[in-house]
Amino acid sequence: MARYTNSVCRLCRREGMKLFLKGDKCYTKCPFEKRPYAPGQHGRDRMKMTHYARQLRSKQAMKRTYGIFEKQFRKYFDKAVKAKEVTGTMLIKIVESRLDNTVYRLGFALSRAHARQMVNHGHILVNGRKVDIPSYELRAGDTIELAEKVRSNSDVKQAIEVSSSKNVAPWLEVDYDLFKGTFVRMPEREEVDLPIDVQDIVELYSK
Ligand code: SF4
Repeated sequence: MARYTNSVCRLCRREGMKLFLKGDKCYTKCPFEKRPYAPGQHGRDRMKMTHYARQLRSKQAMKRTYGIFEKQFRKYFDKAVKAKEVTGTMLIKIVESRLDNTVYRLGFALSRAHARQMVNHGHILVNGRKVDIPSYELRAGDTIELAEKVRSNSDVKQAIEVSSSKNVAPWLEVDYDLFKGTFVRMPEREEVDLPIDVQDIVELYSK
């Protein structure tokens, strides 16, 4: 599968917001804070954004935040439309229930990209069984555990050290001594720290 290989910080600058793609570095050495304008020759030019452009940017920002490509993201949207819940809220719930995102939210990885790599490499167990699909959708009550071999990895240790001093997301539980967490329930919209107008995305795809 194709992967984005340029500097991820350019993505934040393109979207005009911090997407927190580099883990702890986003809180210490963030280029967006020095150059909060789009990359490229005309990045500093102030252009009035059309309604469509704003919708498009919202969609790109959400996809980039969670590291999801268009095809998969569109599938999530179609699934959200069919649900009984408000489409935008459901879309958030679906992406939040991904395994890679949850590994990151539990604090076992430095970033979502790091979490995705851990899943791909078979370092994550769901309900005691290895799952190597980053997009795997968790259900309420599923347990997520680090495989023995990755527990002593320096990046994982660093992630846990940083996360230990923070609160885990309210829909999750974690025990760092056991290297284990639980996806207790689906999150509520207001619990998810996502500074993106999801309604823009709903309107864009509904055209
Ligand atoms: Fe974005 Fe993090 Fe890079 Fe800052 S350091 S621009 S938040 S990826």
